[in-house]
Amino acid sequence: MVTKTKKPLVPRLGSERVKPAPFRYFRANSLAEAFAAYAEAEGDCTYMAGGQSLLPVLSLRLQTPSLVIDISRLEELRGISLANGVLRIGALTRHNEMLHSPEIARYAPLLSKAAPYVAHPAIRNKGTIGGTIAHADPAAEFPGMTLALNAEFEIANSEGRRREPANGFFRGLYETGIAPGEILVAIHVPVFGEHDRCAYHELARRRGDYPLVGCGVRATIRDGVATNGRFAFIAVGAVPQRAFAAEAAIEGQRLDETAIAAAQTALEQDLQPDDDSETTGAMRLHLAKVLLGRLLREIALSPSKAVEAAA
Ligand SMILES: Cc1cc2nc3c(=O)[nH]c(=O)nc-3n(C[C@H](O)[C@H](O)[C@H](O)COP(=O)(O)OP(=O)(O)OC[C@H]3O[C@@H](n4cnc5c(N)ncnc54)[C@H](O)[C@@H]3O)c2cc1C
Repeated sequence: MVTKTKKPLVPRLGSERVKPAPFRYFRANSLAEAFAAYAEAEGDCTYMAGGQSLLPVLSLRLQTPSLVIDISRLEELRGISLANGVLRIGALTRHNEMLHSPEIARYAPLLSKAAPYVAHPAIRNKGTIGGTIAHADPAAEFPGMTLALNAEFEIANSEGRRREPANGFFRGLYETGIAPGEILVAIHVPVFGEHDRCAYHELARRRGDYPLVGCGVRATIRDGVATNGRFAFIAVGAVPQRAFAAEAAIEGQRLDETAIAAAQTALEQDLQPDDDSETTGAMRLHLAKVLLGRLLREIALSPSKAVEAAA
């Protein structure tokens, strides 16, 4: 005889495990209001922009703040503008705007080229450039590309504003130069010149997934000779990384197969990825070399802006 039992065969997770712990919600209408709310909660709180990384973090209870301060309506964090050779991109600029903005395509094209690789359309509609930089996932596209672009971050706190360069800003896994309570207001990117070229590509198991390795390169190329090369890699360690030895290998060189092979070899000095559950460090380094070769060939062959304009 079969005895019925009420005990489930598969133990159920309590519903509380997939929902955030209770929190209060406050929508700030200005930076001053956001800072006042942060001070009142004595740090037991967090800011929310698009919620695309924060909400999963709260749902998994990796953070349990008592207050969520919504900064998504702050006018001070909006807009894209050009002044004195620098493009200022407001922190609330969504990934989708990064993809379609004519100003970004013209003056900071590496960001436009990386944008289609960021997640999926639904996430790109809500996620923001400021949020992805503050979150600092080492496999996220935009934080890494700010290194190749020599970008600067405009950060506000209750005392005022300051600027911090992208190089050195990513301090460790999910750790940045933004101090507790501070808000990233904008990203400043020096604009591309006539002879500057760039390319981005990544290798992922499925389109839209975080990559196994991603790379963006930019360089100035005059008469086939490369200068000011900056290569940024993502998903190769705890933080996005510049490849200084590989950059040095092409400095002042004609960008031909010999220079490209030298840069690929030099990459061994720059990157020492660890083995992890997805793949081995040796495989990641191999993929990084393949990507770098493809990207350098692409910028070597791509027409300069002057040629594009004449066509
Ligand atoms: C299924 C899925 C797939 C994804 N795939 C990718 C991918 O392939 N590539 C990729 O790059 N990203 C990916 N993401 C993350 C996505 O790009 C997020 O948009 C991004 O991480 C930032 O989210 P957000 O702007 O909504 O910020 P939120 O989630 O609101 O905030 C993220 C963190 O940043 C802080 N923060 C936000 N804005 C500011 C600010 N202005 N100043 C200070 N602190 C701030 C918050 O307090 C929080 O700690 C994926 C997300 C999901 C859910």
